[in-house]
Amino acid sequence: MLKIVNPATQQLISELPEDTADSVKAKVLVARAAQPAWWRTPIEARKGAIEKWKILVAENKDRLARTLTAEMGKPLQQALNELNALAGRVDFFLANAARVLEDEIVQVSSAPGGTEERVSWEPLGVVANISAWNYPYFVGSNVFVPGLLTGNAVVYKPSELTTQTGLALAELMYQAGVPRAVFPVVVGGASAGAALLEQAIDGVFFTGSYATGKRIAETTAGRMIKVQLELGGKDPAYVCDDVDVEAAAASLADGAMYNAGQSCCSVERIYVHEKIARSFIDALVKTVREFVVGDPLDLTTYIGPLAREQQLGVLDAQLADARAKGAKVLLGGQRDEARKGWFQPTVLSDVTSEMSVMRDESFGPVIGIQIVASDEEAVRLMNESEYGLTAGVYTKSRERAERLLGQVNAGSAYWNCCDRVSPALPWTGRKHSGIGSTLSSHGIRTFLQPKAWHLRSPS
Ligand code: NAD
Repeated sequence: MLKIVNPATQQLISELPEDTADSVKAKVLVARAAQPAWWRTPIEARKGAIEKWKILVAENKDRLARTLTAEMGKPLQQALNELNALAGRVDFFLANAARVLEDEIVQVSSAPGGTEERVSWEPLGVVANISAWNYPYFVGSNVFVPGLLTGNAVVYKPSELTTQTGLALAELMYQAGVPRAVFPVVVGGASAGAALLEQAIDGVFFTGSYATGKRIAETTAGRMIKVQLELGGKDPAYVCDDVDVEAAAASLADGAMYNAGQSCCSVERIYVHEKIARSFIDALVKTVREFVVGDPLDLTTYIGPLAREQQLGVLDAQLADARAKGAKVLLGGQRDEARKGWFQPTVLSDVTSEMSVMRDESFGPVIGIQIVASDEEAVRLMNESEYGLTAGVYTKSRERAERLLGQVNAGSAYWNCCDRVSPALPWTGRKHSGIGSTLSSHGIRTFLQPKAWHLRSPS
């Protein structure tokens, strides 16, 4: 049985039967049988079902937000923010799916003996959606919404930490008219995910850690199926010497601490120009100190518990390593003594790239700040990472930001902003942050395969 525990109270919320290898196999076979009819369903009907699902999600917003807060500890206001923003993503997919599915006539020839060349787009077939827990409404629907719209069957395995959230989303899909057979949910953790990978699937769309992504890439190598991996990050931001210090500090404090730092694109490293370093660091510490830490059900709470207790140990080790190598703890620095499961919002200075806290994903409310002497040094340090998800530059000069960001090897580039996702832009990682893109037209196209038509008229 899968035990679902509230990380804020440590109370058992529910126990759910986990899928076995046999039940996973059965779900994939049912999906396989149902997928061709789903693909033949007119796109307008598929869009109608997703539109209805969007409305049902909005109608059930409060219940869904509370479900997420209970099982992963996200502050209720942030769970509501996630659900509010979900509608914009769904609207983007609804507005663009039909266009992406249209045939492309590459060469027209009606003359006898002439050849028309055309590209049509077909679904991959049955795809696995193995998902993370930190933004389940976003990362799940980034896959299953365009996957279903493009005529695929999607076998959805929510994270074991947000299973109730995943099941609730699926129930609303069925109410909206999406057949159960083309959107089955697999319940369980790593073993259920591994069992899903063993099946005859046509693609795997994964959101999670680099370690699991690497395992998935290795497991599926040789199968010649589509593998898309959205993995972790160690996202840097550089604060130039010409900024409005208060505004940059406010933006970056939020980017580092929102969702208790448990975002793939949380700011995890800050480089600040020496000319404004002291005032920027003071402003950042002041802002972080004011964040409300507490009960995630309270709408004023900004920082709740970590979703996974094991992550507290990762943060303990990063702090011990940083202290031993000379970092200064300006704020926080340890587990919250009064609240089991919380880590104090933590700001470190005097960090270096030799420290784990500046190299390895923290996935918690911890931020290190390193002072630099030049733009060149900042760019070099920003690139000194195994990850490449996002990077930001704060400056009054757009030209300076674009020049510096053009030299950073990351999938998203931010000028005077951070921790931001747009449905219209590809969400894509480089290096250990993954391969492939969700969102934008690319994130619809990724569920399709081209067929090249060579059509010669009789001469
Ligand atoms: P995780 O890798 O622990 O788990 C992700 C999913 O994989 C879960 O559903 C899990 O049950 C499943 N899984 C675990 N082992 C498996 C195996 N051997 N075979 C198949 N499936 C398996 O990651 P997590 O803790 O859920 O998520 C946090 C990570 O996700 C962080 O690294 C974060 O940066 C990353 N993330 C990335 C993005 C992005 O868009 N790039 C978005 C959200 C989260």
